[in-house]
Amino acid sequence: MALLVHKYGGSSVATAERIRKVAERLAAAQGQGHQVVAVVSAMGDTTDELIKLARQVAPDPDEREMDVLLSTGETVSSTLLAMALRALGQPAISLSGAQAGIVTDGVHTKAKIKNITPKETHRLLDAGNVVIVAGFQGQTPGGHITTLGRGGSDLTAIALAAALKADLCQIYTDVDGVYTADPRIVPTARKLDEISYDEMLELAGSGAKVMQLRSVEIAKKFRVVFEVRSSLNTNAGTIVKEETRSMEDIVVRGVALDKNQAKVTLVGVPDRPGVAARVFKSLAEAAISVDMIVQNVSHGSSQPLTDLSFTVDKPDLPKARAVIEALQADVGFQEVSTDENIGKLSLVGVGMRTHSGVAAKMFETLAAEGINIGMISTSEIKISVLVEAAKGEQALRAVHGAFLG
Ligand code: ADP
Ligand code: ASP
Ligand code: MG
Repeated sequence: MALLVHKYGGSSVATAERIRKVAERLAAAQGQGHQVVAVVSAMGDTTDELIKLARQVAPDPDEREMDVLLSTGETVSSTLLAMALRALGQPAISLSGAQAGIVTDGVHTKAKIKNITPKETHRLLDAGNVVIVAGFQGQTPGGHITTLGRGGSDLTAIALAAALKADLCQIYTDVDGVYTADPRIVPTARKLDEISYDEMLELAGSGAKVMQLRSVEIAKKFRVVFEVRSSLNTNAGTIVKEETRSMEDIVVRGVALDKNQAKVTLVGVPDRPGVAARVFKSLAEAAISVDMIVQNVSHGSSQPLTDLSFTVDKPDLPKARAVIEALQADVGFQEVSTDENIGKLSLVGVGMRTHSGVAAKMFETLAAEGINIGMISTSEIKISVLVEAAKGEQALRAVHGAFLG
């Protein structure tokens, strides 16, 4: 007997019929003698719809209320799935994040899980239930509902798999696994049989929304091996696991395009110690995560000035702007400009550690397409460039073609 954690994303539970199909899959797994926990996302585009609704009543909705509102999406899908299982004669029970023992910090809309007490889940499994856990949500020690950031049901599943010491964790979605690029944008993308945590982390951090970034961090930390696969068929998916030697033979594992970034530039920043620290500390205190950072060499001699650019998630742009503007008098930069018409294109592979010439080939490919490169940043296993948003998909296809066929 094994303990399985399944996670079903929004499209996998988008309709009553799909929910019944998921129930059949779960009942079959339980019927094979396994203990089964299912984590579910909200049905279809429910979360987007709720966010839209909130913005219609308030331009900048209160984040605590937002979490209570958004958590209702997963309440709907989890309860319906439990009902569908019971209708099949399979004992099942739904639990909210709080009831499943998921305790988080109090950073509303992007809370971090602090700990999970899986005692009640174990008890319900031992009693023969399929346990359905509402994804994406938790509760602070003070009892307030929180959510775990967009795509957070992935995190619920991985963290529960770790806490329950599950034998298998499967992420069921609307594609057959992790591909060399988003198959919706790149028709020639191929499904990968396996990928290392580090590569999956870089892809997730680069806009490949197939897995939430934080969930992969937790999987790596707690060594949760998991499989990404389709809820629409029984094809084998992609195994995400610790790096093995043979993985280094492949230079580029995948490419991704992030359309959700915006660029902020502080023009004419006094070039003296402590300025960058002030800027990025203030952003961190506002819980805004910064991705690429580029500072130019200084110009001018009497009072040397520099330009400082960085990228943030698009939804964080108004907040980031407010934080930066509040610093103007203190830091003394000349002006701040923002640009939302950007796309971040990234190339990822552990083989880059041992192979050279990857950046040159990427830049040549973009040049041949007449695509201009904005900022550039690299890590040991990733090269990212900013391109004009309108040319993002063209750039993605070209770079995929050059490296991955
Ligand atoms: P779910 O609702 O199941 O959580 P998501 O929409 O969050 O599903 O993630 C699945 C989607 O991720 C796919 O439909 C696909 O368009 C997109 N995607 C982006 N990059 C990749 C990739 N490299 N491999 C597979 N899917 C990707
Ligand atoms: N429903 C949430 C979202 O759309 C969480 C998830 O689907 O994983 O972001
Ligand atoms: Mg998702």
